[in-house]
Amino acid sequence: MSDSASSIDERIARLHAKGIVDLHFDLLMDLYNKGDRTDVLVTDFLPEFKAGNVGVLAAAIYIEDQYLPDRALAIGLDQMARLYLERDRSDSFAICKSYSEIKRAQEQGKIALVIAMEGIEPIGADLNLLRIFYELGVRVIGLTHARSNAAASGGVFAATGSPPNGLTAFGRILVREAERLGIIVDLAHINACGFNDILDITTEPPIVSHTNARKYYDIERNITDEQIKMVGARGGVIGVNSVLVSPRKEESTLDRYIDHIEHIIGLIGINGVGIGFDFFEFIYRQWSEAERTAFHQKFPSVHVIADLANHAHARNFTRRLIERGFRDEQIEKILFRNWMRIFEQIL
Ligand SMILES: [Zn+2]
Repeated sequence: MSDSASSIDERIARLHAKGIVDLHFDLLMDLYNKGDRTDVLVTDFLPEFKAGNVGVLAAAIYIEDQYLPDRALAIGLDQMARLYLERDRSDSFAICKSYSEIKRAQEQGKIALVIAMEGIEPIGADLNLLRIFYELGVRVIGLTHARSNAAASGGVFAATGSPPNGLTAFGRILVREAERLGIIVDLAHINACGFNDILDITTEPPIVSHTNARKYYDIERNITDEQIKMVGARGGVIGVNSVLVSPRKEESTLDRYIDHIEHIIGLIGINGVGIGFDFFEFIYRQWSEAERTAFHQKFPSVHVIADLANHAHARNFTRRLIERGFRDEQIEKILFRNWMRIFEQIL
C-alpha cells in the first residue's frame, strides 16, 4: 500500500472513530419477518455495522400493506418486541430514548438504536397509542410512507399526482403531542401540503430522515429546493437516501449520492445535511421473483448503488468525500455531528 493510500485509510478511521449516524434503516420489519430465528442482529447485521463504524442507527417500524389495517398495531408491537429480545441477546446494542443514553451507549462501545416509526398505521387514530409507543421508545415519527392514513398523505413516486390534502385534524393533534413529548417529527415521505402543515405547527428544528433532491430525481416523494431551504431556515437536517439518487440505473452512483449532498450544502450550508442511507438490498435479496416483480411495478425506479449498498460500504462514502475535497470538519458534520446536534436539541 502506498503512503497516500495508508494515510487516507487512517483519515477514514479517524473520521469514523466516533461512530457514524444513519437516520433510516428498515430493521424492525426484517427482524419481525425472521421471527423464527434468534440472534439476527448479531448474525446478519453486526459485522456490517462494525465494518462501517455505525454508532447510531434509527431503526424503523414499518407495516407492510398486507397487514393493514387490522393487524397494524399488533405487528408494530411485535416488531418492537423482537428488537428488545435481540438487544437482550447481545452486548453490542443499546435502545436509546435520550441524548444522554446515546452518549452513554457510545462510551460503552455499544451501537445506539433509536426507534423510529415510518407511517403511523400502528397508532391508527388513537392518540393514547402515541403515548404508549413513546413509553416503549419511539423517538422519531414520520406520519406516512407513500400511503394515506388517519394523519396525512404521502408523496407519490412520480413527478405529480400526490393527494392534495394536508394533515387531518388528527394528524395536527398527533404532531403537536409528538413534539410536546419530545419525539422528533420526520418529514420524509409526506406530501407537499402536509410538509407545510407540519412546519406551521412545530417549533423544533425539522428533519427529513431519508430523502433526495428533486433536482436530480424529480418525484414528489423527494423534496424541492424550496423545501430544502425551509428545513435549513429552521436549523433542521436532511438525511440523504442512497436508493433514490437518480431515476436511471447508470446514474445511481456514489458520486451522484454526493452530488445530492453538495446540492443541499449549496442551498442551506454544511449544518443541514446528514445520512439517511435507507439501505434496502438486504430486503430485496430475500424476496422471491414474484415479490421483486410486484415491487418494481409499484416503485419502478429504485436503484441500489453498487458500492454503497450496506453499512459495510460506509467507508467507500467517506473515501469519496475525501477525494472530492471535503475537509475533515465538514465530513464529521455529515457523518454524525449534525444528527447528534438534533438528538441533543430534541431528545
Ligand atoms: Zn422510507
